[in-house]
Amino acid sequence: MPDPRRAVPRTDAVLAEPRIAKAAGTLGRDLVKAVVNDVQQAVRAGEIAPADVVDTVLARLPAGASSLRPVINATGVVVHTNLGRAPLSAAARDAVVAAAGATDVEFDLATGERARRGRGALAALRAAVPDAGAVHVVNNNAAALLLCALALAPGREIVVSRGELVEIGDGFRIPDLLESAGARLREVGTTNRTSARDYAAAIGPDTGFVLKVHPSNYRVTGFTAEAALGELAGLGVPLVADIGSGLLAPHPLLPAEPDAASALRAGATIVTASGDKLLGGPQAGLLLGDADVVERLRRHPAARALRVDKLTLAALEATLRGPQPPVRAALDVSVASLTERAEALVKSLENADAEVVASVAAVGGGGAPGVELPSAAVSLPARYAAALRTGEPAVAGRVVKDRCLLDLRTVRPEEDDRLREAVRRCG
Ligand SMILES: *Cc1c(COP(=O)(O)O)cnc(C)c1O
Repeated sequence: MPDPRRAVPRTDAVLAEPRIAKAAGTLGRDLVKAVVNDVQQAVRAGEIAPADVVDTVLARLPAGASSLRPVINATGVVVHTNLGRAPLSAAARDAVVAAAGATDVEFDLATGERARRGRGALAALRAAVPDAGAVHVVNNNAAALLLCALALAPGREIVVSRGELVEIGDGFRIPDLLESAGARLREVGTTNRTSARDYAAAIGPDTGFVLKVHPSNYRVTGFTAEAALGELAGLGVPLVADIGSGLLAPHPLLPAEPDAASALRAGATIVTASGDKLLGGPQAGLLLGDADVVERLRRHPAARALRVDKLTLAALEATLRGPQPPVRAALDVSVASLTERAEALVKSLENADAEVVASVAAVGGGGAPGVELPSAAVSLPARYAAALRTGEPAVAGRVVKDRCLLDLRTVRPEEDDRLREAVRRCG
């Protein structure tokens, strides 16, 4: 028996192979070397023939230096938190790439002096919501709420309805976040009913602000009542409205979803929202409202720890100024055009197992609970689900009653060709 160890190609020799050397140029030598070492180990174990080392290494090399992989979202959940929430528009992606190097995020090219950080993104947000006296952007909506608690209610009370003590997801509870900032919660009303009088009775010298939280991921129905923002505006203390989803203006398909402009007009002092839900932009926390209060938030020492980077500012500005982002397109697209795309896909698949079915998509991301978005899907046997997830490109569908549904409402039209090829490869 020849000793397999003798036949193992040497690391240097494998790394010198032109295609592998080229990959080391883009992926980095360490990453490629780690794959080479794994494959050498497999040769020693007798799992791979020595002659196949180069091809095996090339096949196992990742597409990029990050382990994050692009996924085609065919789940029918428009804002899918586990898939990174809102996919960016092409304009926002371009803006991120352009800002990735040295960029004038905090520099005035005309004068050569320091300039206000992210002024373009802030101006775009301000222009999108003229009712806001000023705006500020932080890391996410949780950071926006934290900053409000730190700056407006340190050691003081935040008055909030018992019906709005919300857990958003993955154990994140808004009350815990606010208390971690050193504020005390003053709970008013009951789970199903809270009136403006309940708030008014709780307000006193210790009140930092009144908080209204949009219960975005559940609904209380039946014998319920809540105070309208407008009823809480004249209570003599700041009114912070967490609207969650980031709609800047009302959306006709989502009548129950609050929006920033309406909340400000109703009398909110500050509105907080996420950037990567229905706004369709990057992860960010938006703060909009009274100019003096926004300035207090901006000047708080913790604001520095919560600030966003240049990539976020670039993507946010392009989302606000550029073409409709994919999230909005996914909400607005007609069922007829989704059905047409599903039919074209099934026809070109030439796969007897594939058929077009009606489907129901959802907003997701903790937004618009109960809103059903009629949709169309390509239905395949359930075994496709795992194969598609682990394929190239990766596709996430949804398994319903032993069928794998690929819901087209969340697939961008320009992804249809890649989706078809992905299904073909699993067939
Ligand atoms: C999603 C959500 C949050 C958390 O927002 P992040 O941007 O994920 O930090 C807070 N409040 C409400 C009402 C939400 O819907």
